[in-house]
Amino acid sequence: MTFSDFNFDPQLLEGLQSMGFVKPTPIQAQAIPLILQHTDLIACAQTGTGKTASYLLPVLQHISVSDKKHTQALILAPTRELAQQIDQQVEGLAYFAGISSIAVYGGGDGIIYEQQRRAMMEGVDIVIATPGRLIAHLASGAIKLDHLKYLVLDEADRMLDMGFYEDILRIISSLPKERQTLLFSATMPPKIRTLANTILKDPQQINIAISQPAVGISQQVYMVHDHQKVKLICSLLKAGDYKSILIFCSRKETVKDLNRTLKREGIKSEAFHSDLEQEQRETVLRAFKSRVLPVIIGTDVLSRGIDVEGISLVINFDVPPDPEDYIHRIGRTARAETTGTAITFVNEKDQRRFSFIENLISKEIPRMTLPEELGEGPVYSPTTKRPSSNGNNRNKKKKVWVKRKD
Ligand code: AMP
Repeated sequence: MTFSDFNFDPQLLEGLQSMGFVKPTPIQAQAIPLILQHTDLIACAQTGTGKTASYLLPVLQHISVSDKKHTQALILAPTRELAQQIDQQVEGLAYFAGISSIAVYGGGDGIIYEQQRRAMMEGVDIVIATPGRLIAHLASGAIKLDHLKYLVLDEADRMLDMGFYEDILRIISSLPKERQTLLFSATMPPKIRTLANTILKDPQQINIAISQPAVGISQQVYMVHDHQKVKLICSLLKAGDYKSILIFCSRKETVKDLNRTLKREGIKSEAFHSDLEQEQRETVLRAFKSRVLPVIIGTDVLSRGIDVEGISLVINFDVPPDPEDYIHRIGRTARAETTGTAITFVNEKDQRRFSFIENLISKEIPRMTLPEELGEGPVYSPTTKRPSSNGNNRNKKKKVWVKRKD
């Protein structure tokens, strides 16, 4: 199958060509024909599957043949990073089709708010927004969505985890009832089903099996005591020939502490977490993308928000709270069929969580030996029984851990 099979507008095909997309990914092959037929859709697919283009392309196709007088599509996303990434894809795909878009997200100063407001008042075809900021703009009258035809909820599970349920319902109450609604989510917990039942009409369903880590990733694990972690990371960073490195911590306090420690050790690093202003985040990402900055330390906010080629090493300073976040985190390396290394530190407390990750990816990750000067690490013995190893434990796991916001 190729993109020509969808009878897209030639200008959209030009956009696809300029983005280097040749063959539809599995989610695109399944979702595009359904969305082109104007049906509602609930799709279980993760970042990295090509899910963004799977809804953007048919929506852009619909808009390209319309009169473009009003805002026609609204895409809701949980974070500003994702909103910006979606906007960049719209810009690339719609470049030749002359379809306009704006990303609207919170944070920043009054100037950014005003810029967003003015851009929306001038008229725009597609609005990509985080829920909180969109509500502010709706309340100020900057944007009218009464001619809206397409609503997309991207990473819906993440939005609910972040407490946006009421905001989403409030936004939807201001939209026309006659519209096409598309809901994309990495997981399908009951609350997503409830939301889907409330806002979708006779939806079609698509399930793309959980994406496994790319084969190019060399996964490694160190069993460590907490006091060994900093020494181990310094020894790995100083000894290895890694160029662009992401370090993930589950809490922003750990991110800040580790950043200070690494700087003291002479390692060029910056922190990336939800306390940073948008401009600060962008400065850090720019420096990293241009290879001026070799190391970023971040929370999981970073794992969804970064699309950088050539990351050679990902380190999980601690085990992510949710096994699927492990896949998101390590998926930042070995992109586009290159190779990369993903190293995870597991202390005694995290052993059980780690066992769930190995269960999810149906694979034992090679255990590495600590450098001699660090002494012995803890023995691996996850205390509780593992869930069944058919890779189908995602719903059970959701009930076990309460997800932290950051
Ligand atoms: P997503 O799952 O939407 O976050 O997409 C993951 C990455 O895949 C992004 O960097 C996209 O630019 C890229 N991508 C999406 N669709 C295709 C395609 N058909 N061919 C090649 N790359 C793609």
